[in-house]
Amino acid sequence: MTLQDRYKKITDTIAASAAKARRNPADITLVAVTKNATPEAIKTLVELGHRDLAESRVQQLQQRTAQLDEWLHRQQAKKDKPLPHPSAIRWHMIGHLQRNKVRPVLPLVKMIHSVDSLRLAEEIQDEAQRLNSQAPAPPSTQPAPPHGGVPPHPSKGMEVLLEVNVAGEGSKFGVAVGAAIHLAEQIDTMDDIQLVGLMCMAPYSENPEEARPTFIRLRELFDEIKFRKIGGDKFRHLSMGMSGDYPVAVEEGATMVRVGTALFG
Ligand SMILES: *Cc1c(COP(=O)(O)O)cnc(C)c1O
Repeated sequence: MTLQDRYKKITDTIAASAAKARRNPADITLVAVTKNATPEAIKTLVELGHRDLAESRVQQLQQRTAQLDEWLHRQQAKKDKPLPHPSAIRWHMIGHLQRNKVRPVLPLVKMIHSVDSLRLAEEIQDEAQRLNSQAPAPPSTQPAPPHGGVPPHPSKGMEVLLEVNVAGEGSKFGVAVGAAIHLAEQIDTMDDIQLVGLMCMAPYSENPEEARPTFIRLRELFDEIKFRKIGGDKFRHLSMGMSGDYPVAVEEGATMVRVGTALFG
């Protein structure tokens, strides 16, 4: 199977799972996890029209974004190959983030899926505020970013998801279920971060059905936070489901699935 075949198979599966749950497939975003992808495969995916990409480690994120940006800038000059401007690519940070890595990561990403402590949220808030206070002039008067550079993040608040350790595994990152609502409330008071939803990883299993209770639990927690109006109408994402269990996650309400292996091999 080619990358194109695998891509189609995954988007078809997402559509089928959505139909089964009477959901609109347009409400579900496939986030392509590039951590084991070749640069060529990433380019092919972008040529196929895909825009949402993810990395779990900071150094890889920096390399990937720089490589793809540079390539896209070069393609802009070629009239026969209409490809998006680098700013149209949405990068997601999905792995554990140390506070001292917030500064380099923030300008590169559209969303951070892995906020799991007050201290990390505060660091993101401080850094986002710093970036916003240096807000650039409107786009019309703004010089093009340097070759290979990343344009400033356009939106006001940095979009974050709260990572929840639903199954309580000691080996996993994420806030405990019992502490999630309080942390969500605290993040909601911060001016330059927008809490947009929840994220989880199900315990590893050969059987995707074993992930279902984890996804149901995250969904219940999501409903509880929504009921309390934390995050307002921006609170609308459930990032759950990976290569082995994304169809089940879609059935249980995922709005973003993070798929690596099934896509890139
Ligand atoms: C690697 C990774 C994924 C993708 O896993 P696959 O099983 O390769 O699809 C999803 N989420 C996170 C946080 C990851 O680190």
